[in-house]
Amino acid sequence: MKCPKCESETLVGLKLEEVAVDRCSSCDGIWFDAHELGQLLAEDAKQVASLRRGGVREALGGKKGNCPRDAGELLRVYSAVEKTVILDACPECRGIWLDGGEFEKLFAARRP
Ligand SMILES: [Zn+2]
Ligand SMILES: [Zn+2]
Repeated sequence: MKCPKCESETLVGLKLEEVAVDRCSSCDGIWFDAHELGQLLAEDAKQVASLRRGGVREALGGKKGNCPRDAGELLRVYSAVEKTVILDACPECRGIWLDGGEFEKLFAARRP
């Protein structure tokens, strides 16, 4: 699959417990299919350690992208978990793209 942000062909499947996500080895963004993000945010820190790594790419954060599954335009929406994080959500397949470092922000915000 093609990365929606940096447009390299580098999305690599990453298997975590029951869920397989796709991560860009170039910009550290991660693609979650519908419901996968919610599932993973509920996991133990140890299970999702590999998702919490990754640098922040400020330049790509504000960039609009297209869904790697169906090429529809991704909508920029504020996360319900952490209002400072803007997700890129696909209205078609309900998948979600997180830029590098955003999973860590959401993960840190989910606990009191
Ligand atoms: Zn990328
Ligand atoms: Zn889609």
